[in-house]
Amino acid sequence: MSAQILIVDDDPAVRDSIHEFLTIMDYQTFSAASAEDAMTFLRNNHVDIIITDIIMNGMDGLELTHFIKNHYDSDVIVITGYTGDYTYEEAINKGADDFIFKPIKFEELQLRLKRVLRERRLTQERTLILEQLKELAITDDLTKLFNSRHFYNQIEQEVNRYRRYRRPFSILLIDVDHFKHFNDTYGHLEGDRILRRVARLLTSCMRTMDTAYRYGGEEFTVLLPETTCDDALTVAERIKESINSEALDYINDSQITVSIGATEYSETDSISDLVKRADHAMYIAKKKGRNRIAHLLPEQPST
Ligand code: GH3
Ligand code: MG
Ligand code: MG
Repeated sequence: MSAQILIVDDDPAVRDSIHEFLTIMDYQTFSAASAEDAMTFLRNNHVDIIITDIIMNGMDGLELTHFIKNHYDSDVIVITGYTGDYTYEEAINKGADDFIFKPIKFEELQLRLKRVLRERRLTQERTLILEQLKELAITDDLTKLFNSRHFYNQIEQEVNRYRRYRRPFSILLIDVDHFKHFNDTYGHLEGDRILRRVARLLTSCMRTMDTAYRYGGEEFTVLLPETTCDDALTVAERIKESINSEALDYINDSQITVSIGATEYSETDSISDLVKRADHAMYIAKKKGRNRIAHLLPEQPST
């Protein structure tokens, strides 16, 4: 797709000649006769580059540049006269990406446009790669759930929210039962498939605000914002039941089950206290025979 360019100049002769040149160069070109018109146009249309005169009636080109750089992801080339009141430095300080002198030499304009467009493309590619890297850094490769690094980041945010607004939150720690035996019997690859399956089931049992993580190995966590331990148990029950019934269809003679520990954050908890308590609750569920849920509240005996 060709780049989209908006020309802003109150002199119709300049505006029209740039418009004509850029159209011949195969750019998709629009014009505005003032900064105000340009702002109206930009409210409804995206352009890659704005070429603007500086001295115009009403809002001038530098103010327009400043506005655009604060509100839109577009580049700005300013047109300046050799004898103008504005310097190159002022234009750059307002965020201009390049500038061109009047009278305009079209070959020069073309070179500057190409340079700005090339940098723009490189920046977009770099932003995309950075986003992908960020995503990778918080994603578990096998299950595509978030990983434990992200779990700890998110708990930290919930703790901050708790401190500010006193909103409760809970966590679940979910461990697949006798998974070593499953691996030994069916092989590691089948084990991997089960882990992916469990991850999908977890996600399908959650409410919109909840998030699931692969904590490590065959252990998962779920973070439940705005949720007391009581309500967390309802979600835990749904997860346990859904894994029980679903995994049964998968391999007839091997029922996949999970043990779940649930707990709610308390004011005096460190993050590690909270996670340890969920782990302890999960361990109690294991000891009581697996395929069950146990919860622990701070300073309370187990249930
Ligand atoms: P328990 O009911 O007490 O939790 O027993 P368990 O066998 O599940 O627990 P244990 O901690 O002894 O073993 C965990 C097993 O999980 C051992 C390991 O092979 C398996 N496991 C961990 N990560 C993966 C993985 O990524 N893929 C597969 N297939 N297996 C894994
Ligand atoms: Mg385990
Ligand atoms: Mg296990």
